[in-house]
Amino acid sequence: MIRFSPLARSARAALLSIPAALGLVSFALAQPFDAADLDVARELREQALASDLAYEITADLTTRVGNRLAGSENDARAVEWAVEMFESMGFDRVWTEPATFPYWTRETERVSIVAPTEQELVAIALGFSPATPDGGVEAEVVMFDDLDDFEAASPDSVEGRIVFIRSRMERARDGSGYGPAVQKRARGSVVGAEKGAAAVVIRSVGTSTDRFAHTGMMRFTAGSRLVPAAAISNPDADQLERLMTGDAAVRMRVEIEASVNETYTSRNVIAQIDGAADPESIDAPIVAIGAHLDSWDVGTGALDDAAGVGIVTAAARLIMEHADEHGARPDRSIQVILFAAEEIGLWGGRAWADAHGDEVERYLVASESDFGAGRIYAMTARVADEAMPVIEAIQAELAPLGVESVERGGGAGPDFTPMLARGLAAVRLRQDGSKYFDYHHTENDTLDKVDPEAMKQNVAAFAVFTWLAAQSPVGFGSGPELLD
Ligand code: ZN
Ligand code: ZN
Repeated sequence: MIRFSPLARSARAALLSIPAALGLVSFALAQPFDAADLDVARELREQALASDLAYEITADLTTRVGNRLAGSENDARAVEWAVEMFESMGFDRVWTEPATFPYWTRETERVSIVAPTEQELVAIALGFSPATPDGGVEAEVVMFDDLDDFEAASPDSVEGRIVFIRSRMERARDGSGYGPAVQKRARGSVVGAEKGAAAVVIRSVGTSTDRFAHTGMMRFTAGSRLVPAAAISNPDADQLERLMTGDAAVRMRVEIEASVNETYTSRNVIAQIDGAADPESIDAPIVAIGAHLDSWDVGTGALDDAAGVGIVTAAARLIMEHADEHGARPDRSIQVILFAAEEIGLWGGRAWADAHGDEVERYLVASESDFGAGRIYAMTARVADEAMPVIEAIQAELAPLGVESVERGGGAGPDFTPMLARGLAAVRLRQDGSKYFDYHHTENDTLDKVDPEAMKQNVAAFAVFTWLAAQSPVGFGSGPELLD
């Protein structure tokens, strides 16, 4: 598990343990990092706080490419953009790896109330929604409080009708309102098909009162039947709820044009800073940081996840610049992985885990930035017991940035999840997501929502974490010991 432990470090750790064993050092845990490595971490922290690079990268991707739905022409443009961007920055290695998936194309959607009065609603089809028959479907509306309520309903009360699920998402710094609220989006269409619904319409999974609807993926398997499904904006959902509590029957029309297409092959785009250990060696260890390159087909995918692309790329670039200036490589290699097709089913992350699963031990630790650009306030670590002093020492260097605490557990972000199941060590730098779900998966996720100052703090935290992880005197654990 501990695959990289230079002699000098082991000797130093042994020396530190002697006074501790004698009871001579009782005031604190031994600092696991060399003083020189801590100095570099602190320099990186200050340099990041003074750098606009992450914002510039985010602006460039969202402006020159725009939104980047997996399988679209802009998906290919984004891959080309990422390769050029990494190469222009002078990373030691830049390459791509394939990820193949079925993809979905949105044409149009229209959701309207047709009785008791005619009203057009702000709506967006959910990812992989089938099309409605020509002219759309029109039917009486039946409303449910949440997915559980809908699942408990008798098919008789649903058959042939348009189902409306009204549960609301709670705003929270840690984004914890998303899990419960997203159930209706994930499963509503499948349950609708089982019960014979004509279509499913949900209140947007989002926290804004703006009139933007939030799209997102549905969860289904290859054999699942789906019915056309769309989300309406929160104010439109309020309006529909008020009508539904009145005396008159409410009828709606849903028209969706969309298609599910045969397979497309996109690319994960990877850049590497070679570490001091022979990077050609199969045993050369790697610290991996990532983000996803794709987005939904609305807005410009600025918070989700161009911001993450900017944050992790800028952090790695700062480390590389520092290494070049001082002629000193990080001990371990550092990879920046920009994943393909996260939004429509973690296809890039799954392809990466398939391609690299048998070398999980090479990956010391991984962390993804995929929660917008809000300030980082805490961290989580899914690592072996013996790595916790190292994690705590990293958190101490992040504390001046406002990273207040570290907890055991958690993951590394969505795209590393398939590899987590193989025992990848994981750290998450937890961002303030209070506003993230105001814009998430909407036309309103645009560059102006990215706070450049908060972004600098993110880069500083990623640079410090990534550098110190690459210099850690111990590994972080991997394999069965980290499985639940
Ligand atoms: Zn994302
Ligand atoms: Zn997303």
